[in-house]
Amino acid sequence: MSDTDLRDIEALNARTSDGIAVVTGASRGIGAAIAGRLGADGYTVAVHYRQDSTAATDVVEKITAAGGTAFSFAADLAEPDTGTAFWASYDAAAGALRDVPVRVLVNNAGIVVNGVIEETAAEDFIRQQQINTTAPFLIIKAALPRLADGGRVVNVSSGATRVPIPGIIGYTMTKGALEALTLPLAQHLGPRGITVNAVRPGTTDTDMNADWLRGNSEAMATIVAQRALGRVGGPADIADVVALLASHDARWITGQIIDATGGERL
Ligand code: NAD
Repeated sequence: MSDTDLRDIEALNARTSDGIAVVTGASRGIGAAIAGRLGADGYTVAVHYRQDSTAATDVVEKITAAGGTAFSFAADLAEPDTGTAFWASYDAAAGALRDVPVRVLVNNAGIVVNGVIEETAAEDFIRQQQINTTAPFLIIKAALPRLADGGRVVNVSSGATRVPIPGIIGYTMTKGALEALTLPLAQHLGPRGITVNAVRPGTTDTDMNADWLRGNSEAMATIVAQRALGRVGGPADIADVVALLASHDARWITGQIIDATGGERL
């Protein structure tokens, strides 16, 4: 692709964000916030979920009630054939939109297996790797022909890759691998004008942390004290950073890992 072609794509993207944005794990938490924000920005949002169709429908309805466009589709990222099954389910739900290039792909879905290394069961470790690392790789791989030139890939990592948390070593490995994907993929897709970046949320108030954070004032105080910005993050704090990377304004940022922890343990 020539420089002129790339500039044409960038000019087009500056005028509109009316492409399709696919967000994995978007039925709740950070993913739901990302879907809502990208919907408000004008993308047609493909809301991926695993099994909670009611929650996914709720996200879709909120986007459409706000004047946006969205649809949902299901795929279990723990399945070995993730890439193929994910996009087959997407195609079935997208209908006539299935041939429209995907402008933004956000790999957000993930799980955390808590417990020190001594207590981590092999099957839990492998499942976590599959969902957090293998699935995004296979989803991106299968997406390459349908990603729009000038598009965006955003991977949701974790602040745990910068600040050690011994209770989640396996999880940290999965996110480290996701970050390692970012740099060479950005190089690989650069000639198509596609940017590839990662966002590192810190502890964010979602269901992922419900059991130890919500209603636990001591834990909350500890987390707050470790942040320069003095509060626990919410899903919207992360969604806005993802939206920034998805935007035309971020067209010159690629191969980067953006810390979005509110200044954790600076
Ligand atoms: P969450 O548990 O609320 O959401 C996780 C999402 O991933 C859910 O929608 C869930 O359905 C989906 N998911 C899990 N397993 C799946 C599977 N097998 N197949 C398909 N989808 C599956 O948690 P969240 O806090 O919203 O997490 C979103 C992302 O942010 C995750 O990648 C997480 O690792 C990352 N993150 C979260 C925090 C935090 O403190 N909440 C901190 C750093 C990074």
